[in-house]
Amino acid sequence: MATSVLKMDFMTKRSIMKSRIRTENYKGRWFVLTALELTYHDGNADEQPGKQKGRIFLKNIKVVEKVEPEEFGGKPNVFQVLYTNEAGEAFNLYIMALSPESQEEWIFKLRQTSQKCGAIFYKQYHPGIYSYKLGKWLCCERIQHKSEGCCNVTSISEKLKPSAQDKKKNDIRESPIQGRPDNMPVPKPPEKPKKSDKVKVLAVFSYDSNLDGDLSLEKGEEYEILEKNEEHWWKAKNSKGEIGFIPVNYVKIKEGEEDLEEYDWYYPNTSRVKSEEILNKEKKEGCFLVRESSTSGMYTLSIYATERDVGIVKHYHIKRKGNGDYYLTEKHAHRTVPMLIHYHKHNCAGLIVRLRSSPAAGRNDISPAIPGLGHDRYEIDRSELQMLQELGAGVFGTVKLALYRNTQKVAVKMMKEGTMSEDDFIDEAKTMKELQHNNLVRLFGVSTKERPLYIITEYMSQGSLLTYLKRHKRRLLDKSTKLIDMCHQVSQGMAYLESKSFIHRDLAARNCLVGENDVCKVGDFGLARFVLDDEYTSSHGTKFPIRWAPPEVLSYTRFSSKSDVWSYGVLMWEVFSGGSMPYGQMRNQDIVTEVCQQNKRLERPQKCPEPVYDLMQECWNRKPEERPDFSSIVKKVKNILHATADYL
Ligand code: ADP
Repeated sequence: MATSVLKMDFMTKRSIMKSRIRTENYKGRWFVLTALELTYHDGNADEQPGKQKGRIFLKNIKVVEKVEPEEFGGKPNVFQVLYTNEAGEAFNLYIMALSPESQEEWIFKLRQTSQKCGAIFYKQYHPGIYSYKLGKWLCCERIQHKSEGCCNVTSISEKLKPSAQDKKKNDIRESPIQGRPDNMPVPKPPEKPKKSDKVKVLAVFSYDSNLDGDLSLEKGEEYEILEKNEEHWWKAKNSKGEIGFIPVNYVKIKEGEEDLEEYDWYYPNTSRVKSEEILNKEKKEGCFLVRESSTSGMYTLSIYATERDVGIVKHYHIKRKGNGDYYLTEKHAHRTVPMLIHYHKHNCAGLIVRLRSSPAAGRNDISPAIPGLGHDRYEIDRSELQMLQELGAGVFGTVKLALYRNTQKVAVKMMKEGTMSEDDFIDEAKTMKELQHNNLVRLFGVSTKERPLYIITEYMSQGSLLTYLKRHKRRLLDKSTKLIDMCHQVSQGMAYLESKSFIHRDLAARNCLVGENDVCKVGDFGLARFVLDDEYTSSHGTKFPIRWAPPEVLSYTRFSSKSDVWSYGVLMWEVFSGGSMPYGQMRNQDIVTEVCQQNKRLERPQKCPEPVYDLMQECWNRKPEERPDFSSIVKKVKNILHATADYL
């Protein structure tokens, strides 16, 4: 497949000679950015790029930042790219752009494209360079080359929103390029932003809105997208010509091929564990469903069959050929998934059993949480909330179920007065509302005009993870895949927070919630910072979550994503011990002594598989920098899942 060149410039690069005496020099190189990698090539400014001299996969980029001239021997327009190789070793690349504009553009484009590739940025970096001569970082004097950065990275959201001027510049820059290196495929003209392209979408769920500015959606209807300027709300037009904002996660872009949503056997958003539950309930030979696979963009076929009188569920990846055709066995490829299903309904062709029927119980079409209570609504008028039963009570006050505008179920946290610094929270809540991920409890808005203050969030029908674990203890402890799957979901929510440089500070099973289809989400993120009660905030306080805190928090209140990682290890322990209290009856003071001074750790819960306990122990490394970050935890948990059963 030819790869489009997104950006290409001739710039100067700093090189370090790999001899015993490391000296630096500067070389002119062609830099070529595509959707997957940044490569640099031999050549001169007035020639075409020559031989490839280096390659960085964008997914491995950790930092893209400006370097001020005073940090770099007075040289202007420098930016740095910190990246890791497959072995996880980090390298710095320093590039001198042609102008301040070009420097800005490269930073913006690199960050944007690498994020699209799933790159997870570090939260800290070194704004200066490492001097081999002096043997230290010039910015912070640290001598370890591998030492953690000394400066917070620029907020990603800030960098990812180019100014109107930047956008214009990008449009001009992204015209088809002139020369190309010999060993590169012919570049296609880069895609123009699809802002006003006629994009058609199909409503996957109905969205009933009577709010000004929003447009209702009817499941199965087609809409034209007019503007995609916001992440979660797009401006759309229906067939009657009415225009308004619609929640993006309620629609699907119509692609050329048949829409799978129309088929009873299509179960999007269904995990492997869930598909087994559905098919095992049906217990029908040949009963099958197609779901989105854990690898994005792929599908998996799950089938129920009996082998020696024992019911099993088999999972098959639906693979694709170079020409886009779908197949299970290479000999029988088909243009679309429905055609493939049709074929295997009549031919076993390598499957354990011929496909027969889709689950009779039917797909449980539960709408996902909308990204708010309407476009641009943050302050919520409490007269539109109809309060229903109490869901629980916590440190901050009571939580109630409520109906918003008589239609949508929400959870309302009614804050006990005097428990939190309200002004700070109200400011911060705007940022927190932007944090949206399938494994984070969505913050819809606040109601601050009256007291008590209300925090309005997504309603999670099965309550807290802790109660869920205790309630289903007997059933769950023998189902390690199910438990690993829950840990996987939490780790995904946390990896998202980590990528946004957001620290949770109070991650524990009691602060996660479980919803329909056993979806598991992290809640209460960041709230701990606004609590006024010393007993809760001080590590010596009686309400401080000591059992979830690492030594550096207990000793110096040093919170970081790595302290969240420790808490995540404890959360895994809670999951595998059926919601038991970590360290049981031990007194807080004794826990602090054992953890901090004697390096003792929680023991392996009886039913916990070894690899899961190994990961917990990695999370409890005394040194924060040696704990894995959440992005690698996500991968590790997924690998454990794969190994536990043939997970697809
Ligand atoms: P606090 O943070 O004040 O300690 P919590 O957020 O833990 O309070 O809420 C207390 C209880 O209320 C939870 O244990 C859970 O049972 C219930 N609850 C909280 N938020 C929700 C929600 N979004 N959906 C359903 N139940 C909830």
